[in-house]
Amino acid sequence: MNILVLVKEVPDMTKVKFDCEKGIVDRSSAESEINPFDMNALQAAVNLKNTWGASVTVLTMGPPKSERSLRDAYARGADRLIMLTDRRFGGADTCATAMTLSSAIKSMGSFDLIICGEKSVDGDTAQVGAEVAEFLDIPHAYYVENITDLNENEITVSVENICGSRQTRKLKLPALIAVTKNINSPQLPTVNRKLKSLEMEAQRMGLDDLSCFISEEDTGFRGSPTKVSKIEVPEPTRRESLIIRDDYQKFCEIMKTEIFKSRR
Ligand code: FAD
Repeated sequence: MNILVLVKEVPDMTKVKFDCEKGIVDRSSAESEINPFDMNALQAAVNLKNTWGASVTVLTMGPPKSERSLRDAYARGADRLIMLTDRRFGGADTCATAMTLSSAIKSMGSFDLIICGEKSVDGDTAQVGAEVAEFLDIPHAYYVENITDLNENEITVSVENICGSRQTRKLKLPALIAVTKNINSPQLPTVNRKLKSLEMEAQRMGLDDLSCFISEEDTGFRGSPTKVSKIEVPEPTRRESLIIRDDYQKFCEIMKTEIFKSRR
């Protein structure tokens, strides 16, 4: 069984600064790490590898420094590391990102299962997984919190309780699933793998390697129908509030005064 995990390198969102005028994240302002939801995706793949003897490939699209995250993925149990990196991929929206990722997947051969996170913590659109599945013309399930069965033909998953209903879905393979944080707890890497990961090099691919599947006009800023024109970081605000416990009479008095004030 060949499993592919999509991993995005994201900045530490507690420290990162935004370039509000250009509408971009200033990635140099904070350290980067594997998108936390993708850690769960990777762990899900490694768990399946441990049960099934599957091979786990990790694919990222990003600047050359994202190789660090791929090494981290190796330390956590991945077998093969692929990095899509090319200046022409820069500024991609979700559509151009998904089209580029799916072109790379087509060029790499076939996978039985693709696993991604439900969303990234920087762009936060939760669109890329579904778009990749559409471009590959394979079924997908989002908000997966458990893999209940897997065989060479299909996967059975349970999907987070959305609007009061928890669903079980069966998907024919190849398929894509986007996982939530509830699916598992990512494990720490072993010392041996951590040391070995320092020597690992990812296989690099650029636009020229994908020329049979995608043209330059469909990648990066040029290929992106969505433009983020401005980012506004809201000012933190505090409203005055009063917590009243077990004192219905006092609550009624306060409400009366407030209603009276608002009518004046
Ligand atoms: P999501 O769809 O949230 O990511 C889901 C999963 O897809 C991830 O967990 C990961 O497994 C996989 N994945 C995502 N990106 C990659 C990657 N580069 N390599 C490997 N796997 C990946 N774009 C729009 O189209 N519309 C918008 O409204 C929009 N708003 C934005 C707002 C902000 C503040 C920022 C910073 C960016 C915005 N973008 C938007 C751009 C968007 O973040 C990028 O296109 C990004 O490359 C993919 O979208 P995402 O981060 O939202 O991914």
